[in-house]
Amino acid sequence: MGDWFEVRDYDAAGRIGELTVPRADVTVETPALLPVVNPHVRTVEPARMESEFGAEILITNGYILYGSEDARESALSDGLHDLYDFSGAIMTDSGSFQLSEYGEIDVDTREILDFQRDIGSDIGTPVDIPTPPDVSREQAADELATTQERLELAAEVETGEMLVNAPVQGSTYPDLRERAARDAYGTDLDVFPVGAMVPLLNDYRFADVVDMVAAAKRGLGADAPVHLFGAGHPMMFALAVAMGCDLFDSAAYALYARDDRYLTVRGTEHLEDLEYFPCECPICASHTPDELESCGDADRERLLAEHNLHVTFGEIRRIKQAIRQGNLLELVEARARGHPTMLDGYRALGDHAEQLEATDPATKDAFFYLSGESAARPEVLRHHQRLERLDADGEILLTEGDTNEAYDESWRVVPPFGPFPRDLSEVYPLNAEVPERLDERAYARAADGVARLAEANPDVDFTLGHTGWPARALDRVPADVDTYELGVDDAFGDPEDDADETA
Ligand SMILES: [Zn+2]
Repeated sequence: MGDWFEVRDYDAAGRIGELTVPRADVTVETPALLPVVNPHVRTVEPARMESEFGAEILITNGYILYGSEDARESALSDGLHDLYDFSGAIMTDSGSFQLSEYGEIDVDTREILDFQRDIGSDIGTPVDIPTPPDVSREQAADELATTQERLELAAEVETGEMLVNAPVQGSTYPDLRERAARDAYGTDLDVFPVGAMVPLLNDYRFADVVDMVAAAKRGLGADAPVHLFGAGHPMMFALAVAMGCDLFDSAAYALYARDDRYLTVRGTEHLEDLEYFPCECPICASHTPDELESCGDADRERLLAEHNLHVTFGEIRRIKQAIRQGNLLELVEARARGHPTMLDGYRALGDHAEQLEATDPATKDAFFYLSGESAARPEVLRHHQRLERLDADGEILLTEGDTNEAYDESWRVVPPFGPFPRDLSEVYPLNAEVPERLDERAYARAADGVARLAEANPDVDFTLGHTGWPARALDRVPADVDTYELGVDDAFGDPEDDADETA
């Protein structure tokens, strides 16, 4: 693997990066969207995607070009860039998707890679085996072995300056995905698509998508560009980026348009159900849904495809801006409210807080606590890890209220973080914006912070003064930490009262 990918900025595991594509002599900024161009049906011309939508890279199916005599000849004689009138980078697929859909293709890895190189592809793909979700472990492992053989073969093929994809398979087995990623990363190949995700995406299994991407990411180096193959719905881009995906491809913009379906960042609408367009793009600003309905089929399909592309590229820009500002997780949180399965995906992301924490910046503009899911953010985890290293001594009051002279020190307590010395109050993320009406998870996580601190400092006497935490949160506070409710049983807050008890 060459030095083709450089990360500029991180937020959680999401990143802004630069993918250098030597054969096209371009640098693609990631996260990037690759519109899928069907060699036979160009709903929106690639040249327009470049000039009007800002596409820096697209993807087309090398196998379809290979399999159709006319297309093959013109691709070979003109080259893809002239054929499509597109000066950005062009990635080609190998037919693996056709293999997964129809069970059979008649080309092998060496042949299809030679062909992709010969038609001027900038990033080619070997023929891997896209193992579907939920198959037996044996099948997943067997097919993975075949995929790995093909990746090793692909690494031997003379591909010149063309970069080569190394798809990561493994069905719905996280350990197989992780191993597949490690083995793929160990080849000399360049870009790492997480493959066979389309069935999960079609079924809105976003928690599984997050788990599989997380597993793949554990096996890949930080310098590996990761492509979520087949993911084209803007609703889930922020979630996937936060988990570390860099590239997306959209056939959805055109496929949905064909069925009068209208993409939004919150889900999909049917044109016939819309009285108003909830969008600012040029198409929606200059048409009403009724006007679009009364267009001829071809015009309506094209206009809907253009709207779908605008929304899709718009979300990529919004995500990049969020990474720059350090509020990607707030964006994920907002998107998670669009659909219950997205909320599952966001909750699954919280399960991987440790992985996100590894690259999450130490400081950002602001932390907004927006729901119980915010309590699972990597910043909270990091604070809890730091609590173990803070110096604590004597008798310490941990309080949501004022300082108390009866103690050696009075630390602040802010849910969901838990306790910290007062002089850290303005330090990110402890300067978080937190609502007044908190949920139970915030208190529970704060209690976990108290527990972490107390366990790391068994010789210190801690007392917790809280504002009426729910019993389930207080249950998480260790028994040797005295607790009292501020303004209710303050007397209990005097350490002299229970000196014997804690001795
Ligand atoms: Zn629009």
